[in-house]
Amino acid sequence: MFFNIIEKIVRVTKALTEPRIATKDVTKDTMHHSPIFRGMHEIKYDICTGCEACAKICPVDAIVMEPLPIKRPKALPEVNLGICIFCGLCEDVCPTKPEKAIKLSGGTFEMITGGTDEDIKNYWVKPEVPQEWIEQKKKEEEEKARKKAEMLAKKKAEAEAKKKAEAEAKAKADAEAKEAESEKKPEAGEGDAQ
Ligand code: SF4
Ligand code: SF4
Repeated sequence: MFFNIIEKIVRVTKALTEPRIATKDVTKDTMHHSPIFRGMHEIKYDICTGCEACAKICPVDAIVMEPLPIKRPKALPEVNLGICIFCGLCEDVCPTKPEKAIKLSGGTFEMITGGTDEDIKNYWVKPEVPQEWIEQKKKEEEEKARKKAEMLAKKKAEAEAKKKAEAEAKAKADAEAKEAESEKKPEAGEGDAQ
């Protein structure tokens, strides 16, 4: 009994005082994951429509829609992994086909942080959107708006021309009818005199 206590004291003292060398760097080495482990989100900014379905269905409000300076998508989802429960509903509800714009499986599987409050607070999946892509989308939208305005102006001009032609045709028909009427009247007068 006495020796047991002494042995424990020695073991604990040794454990507390001896420097211990880590045998595995979990931030670098791949960890074992269950086959159904879904992993970190992967967000495809170039196929997302900004419909917000993922943000609306998220049961823990882990998704916020970050606005973009373009019309489509007008915003992209960003996921707070600090509160996500990895249910996968966001991936299930995403309507893009054939590929989902947000998915868990297929993304990054290593999600280790330093573990401080600050790390957890900043533990987000944010799509990295290149500025060139935004500029290209802006140009495409401007071109589309220009073509639409041109088409509307053309349609309006055509409608006005048609209206004008119809009005002219009617005026001409009225004038002809009036002329025919005035030609008939003297003949009627001549008949009365006889
Ligand atoms: S996996 Fe579930 S909890 Fe996590 S962001 Fe998607 S819907 Fe929300
Ligand atoms: S990721 Fe999918 S569900 Fe979410 S906004 Fe984009 S298209 Fe909609």
